[in-house]
Amino acid sequence: MDGTTHPTTAPVLILLGPPGAGKGTQARMLEEQFGLVQLSTGDLLRAAVAAGTEAGKSAKAVMDAGELVSDDIVIAILRDRLADDDCARGVILDGFPRTTVQAEALDTLLAETGQKINAAISLDVDDAAMVTRISGRFTCAGCGEGYHDTFKAPATAGVCDKCQATEFKRRADDNAETVAARLEAYHAQTSPLIAFYQAQGALARVNAMGAINDIATELGAIVKTATA
Ligand code: AMP
Repeated sequence: MDGTTHPTTAPVLILLGPPGAGKGTQARMLEEQFGLVQLSTGDLLRAAVAAGTEAGKSAKAVMDAGELVSDDIVIAILRDRLADDDCARGVILDGFPRTTVQAEALDTLLAETGQKINAAISLDVDDAAMVTRISGRFTCAGCGEGYHDTFKAPATAGVCDKCQATEFKRRADDNAETVAARLEAYHAQTSPLIAFYQAQGALARVNAMGAINDIATELGAIVKTATA
């Protein structure tokens, strides 16, 4: 955090969608394609849990139960991260906002630096497929590349395609019971944001049940138009 004001032109994109919709995968692809910064509050919270910070300590049990961490904690974490220098390139928010309170706080934060949301893109998926998607996923412990037992296994079993690391990790909350709670939280608390961003004229929707690369192409076109 350096306390400086970022240029007002830095793009701000939001990916909306239930757990398993592919927000993280697509955000990383957009990050590479457009030079933006992927900002995942889930990743920031997991880092806070691992570091044993006060925020991490109070978030852990809530995350393990698949419920939403309090708005105050998440907004504070997001505000700090947004003030980092690299975010001046523009950001893709992955997993934030998840409540109307967070969405309103984001608008207020952005207004402070004269920024606004370029697009909020909803990744539309069938709930029924999400449990399978989530239960099979894992990431490279070295570079964070995402994989899936069925849909995207490494080319050589046990070796990361990107960085050749041989250690992988699975998230503690990627299990069938927690996924049900996470889907419920999405529908109850996050899906109202679709109407919220539609009312702002910022909403785009993408059918995210297809192939990863096809969805990436469609998203890339939306981001190009929204940031032109
Ligand atoms: P994710 O990695 O986005 O799936 O998030 C993992 C977990 O972190 C969620 O199930 C929540 O418990 C918590 N979390 C992440 N982002 C938020 C947010 N914006 N608001 C509340 N809780 C969040």
